Amino acid sequence: MSSSININQLVRKNVRELTPYQSARRIGGKGNVWLNANEYPTAPHFELTQQTLNRYPEPQPEQVINRYAAYAGVQSSQLIVSRGADEGIELLMRAFCEPGQDSILYCPPTYGMYLVSAQTLGIDYKAIAQTDDWQLDLTAIERNLETVKLIYICSPNNPTGNLLNQNDIRTLLDMAAGKALVIVDEAYIEFSIDNSVVSWLEQYPHLVILRTLSKAFGLAGLRCGFTIANTPVIEALQKVIAPYPLAVPVADIASQALSPENIKTMQLQVLNLNQQKAHFIDELNRLEQVESIYPSFANYILVKFKNCKMLFEYMWNHGIILRDQSKQPSLAGCVRISIGTPAECHAVIEAIKHFAIKEC
Ligand SMILES: *Cc1c(COP(=O)(O)O)cnc(C)c1O
Repeated sequence: MSSSININQLVRKNVRELTPYQSARRIGGKGNVWLNANEYPTAPHFELTQQTLNRYPEPQPEQVINRYAAYAGVQSSQLIVSRGADEGIELLMRAFCEPGQDSILYCPPTYGMYLVSAQTLGIDYKAIAQTDDWQLDLTAIERNLETVKLIYICSPNNPTGNLLNQNDIRTLLDMAAGKALVIVDEAYIEFSIDNSVVSWLEQYPHLVILRTLSKAFGLAGLRCGFTIANTPVIEALQKVIAPYPLAVPVADIASQALSPENIKTMQLQVLNLNQQKAHFIDELNRLEQVESIYPSFANYILVKFKNCKMLFEYMWNHGIILRDQSKQPSLAGCVRISIGTPAECHAVIEAIKHFAIKEC
C-alpha cells in the first residue's frame, strides 16, 4: 500500500518542474585539470583554533563581520554574512518578493543562480538580455520594471568577464529608486578592485552588493559570503536568515582569512593571477583554434573557439575540465576557462595544440 503513494504529487508544483542547478561539480567529469568553477587554483592553509562545539555559534560572528566591514570600507551594521553569496541571493528574494505578485529581473548571459532561486521560491522573473557588447539594455529594463522588486546585475559579469559601465549602473539606480533594489554581484571584484561600487552606498539606499570568500580568497569550500547594503535592507535580511548560518569552524577560518596579514597575501595572489592571465591570453592568441578571447576583469576568460564542441569534448576526454557556455544566449562557440596554476594553463595550451594536429 505505502509503496503506491506518489510522493511527487505532494511536491510543490514549481519544485516538481525544477531541474537542479547545473553547478560545475554536479556536471561531473574526470580529470586532473579543473578549470570549470572559477576557483582559486591553490588552497590557503588554515588550522582550526581551539573551539568547543557544544554551544550554538554566534548568529553573526562578530569578528568576521567587523573584519569584513573594515576590509570592504563599510560599517558593521551594513553587512550580513551567510552560507556563500548564493544564500544572499536567495535571502533578498525571501525578504522582498511576494510569490505570485512580485518579480526579479536579471540580464543574461549571466550567473545562473538568480533564476534558480526565483524558480525555487516560486517568484516570477524577467530575463532582459544584455546588449551585443554585454552591457545593460536600459531601455528594455525600463519598459519591464512593473512588479519588479529586485534587479540582479553582475560586474565583473560571469561568464563574460567584462565590467558593466558605471554610468549605466547609476542610470539603473535612478530608474529603480523607490521601486526596486539594485543588487550588484561583485563575486570577482578583487580581480579589478577599483571598479567596486561599494562607496556608492551612502548615495543609494536601494543599492545592495554581494561578495564572497569563494573566489579571490580561495575558500569556495568554506561557504562564506556577504551581502552589503544600508542598515534597513540588512535588518530585513536578518529576519529571514537561518538562526545559525555559519558553523563554528567556518567562522573560525573566515575570521583568520580576513586578518590584515592574510588580506595582504590574497591581494598579492590576485596580482599574480592577473599576470598569469595576461600570459595565458598571449599564448592562446597564437593558436589557430582560437577565434576570440574576450577582455576579462576576473579570474577566468571566455574564449570563442573554432570547432568549439569537438574541442571541449577533446579536452574533457583528456581530463581537462572547462565550462561549456555555448548554450547561453549570444555565447555560441564559447567556453569559459578559469585561470589555474601555470602548469594547468600550460596543459590547456598543449592540449589545444594536440587537438589541432589531430584535426588536420
Ligand atoms: C561564484 C559566484 C557566486 C557564489 O558565490 P558563493 O559565495 O560561493 O555562493 C555568486 N555570484 C557569482 C557571479 C559567482 O560567480
